[in-house]
Amino acid sequence: EINVGQMRVLVTGASGLIGKAIEHVVYHEGGKRDGEEWIFISSKDGDLTDLGQTKAVFEKFRPTHVIHLAAKVGGLFIHLKENLRFLRENILINDNVLQTAHETGVTKVVSCLSSCIFPDKTTYPIDETMIHDGPPHESNFGYSHAKRIIDIQNRAYFQQHGRCYTSVIPTNVFGPFDNFTAENGHVLSAVIGKTYKAKQEGTQVNVCGTGNPRRQFTYSLDLGRIIIWALREYKEVEPIIASVGVDEEITIKEAVHMIAESLDFKGKIHYDTTMSDGQMRKTASNGKLKCYLPDFTFTPVNEAVKMTCDWFVANYDIAN
Ligand code: GDP
Repeated sequence: EINVGQMRVLVTGASGLIGKAIEHVVYHEGGKRDGEEWIFISSKDGDLTDLGQTKAVFEKFRPTHVIHLAAKVGGLFIHLKENLRFLRENILINDNVLQTAHETGVTKVVSCLSSCIFPDKTTYPIDETMIHDGPPHESNFGYSHAKRIIDIQNRAYFQQHGRCYTSVIPTNVFGPFDNFTAENGHVLSAVIGKTYKAKQEGTQVNVCGTGNPRRQFTYSLDLGRIIIWALREYKEVEPIIASVGVDEEITIKEAVHMIAESLDFKGKIHYDTTMSDGQMRKTASNGKLKCYLPDFTFTPVNEAVKMTCDWFVANYDIAN
């Protein structure tokens, strides 16, 4: 039974990195308020590429609010191989979730986009007004276009139905519960996994590419706090970039050195320049976020890398 004034938040894709971070903020940082109920679901609760199963999930949990994180995702190297699958599965998931949310009267949806949606050829820093100004990088164009369409859908749900469905755009997110495998992980987590293994086995670490691309790495717990704020306070339909600032952008090489230091790895680090660098940069401005939340402080990246490495070592059994 839903009481008047009660907020029932459904988080899709909640078993992933960002969902786990939101769960932590809600239950361990006092993020949960009176009258709120939080429901965290994963693919085990239903296949969101299937409309019938999506409807069943919404009928079962009857959310008033949705944080939509569910997506078919992966690091650069899996995207290069499977652009079509990433395109199709994400289009299906997003259409099913947004339309079912609308049909069941969900008043607010915050969907999670990604900085890979930004145009490849552009001026920097990129901001929220520029996301459709030219094609995304070809390495993950399938995923990127599916994510861009969420923004189009949000505008259309507002125009036609007055819905406040919006989106946040994180930059490279990392933290506990990420995918730390060399095959599917994003760079920080993949390199944490590889460095830990190299240390155990006394071998060198193989890093993909030149190490020269630049990235803004945002800690998952910080992103979790911002998404919860967006759910409650952010009233725009237009997306908002949820990221550390342009000053915090670092090279892959600098990130790799932070990992080596955190894991106390003293062996050789090899850069395999036969492998792709992906996008050289995608520098994004967090100016809009700073206007809304001038006092928000991000965890410094070296501290967050250290905490993530410590978590990985302590949770090696579940992190692999
Ligand atoms: P992106 O930011 O969307 O490109 O995705 P990633 O988080 O996967 O970062 C890719 C960047 O990290 C590219 O420049 C890769 O060459 C570099 N990189 C270095 N080693 C690795 C690795 O082991 N895994 C991944 N995914 N990327 C790596």
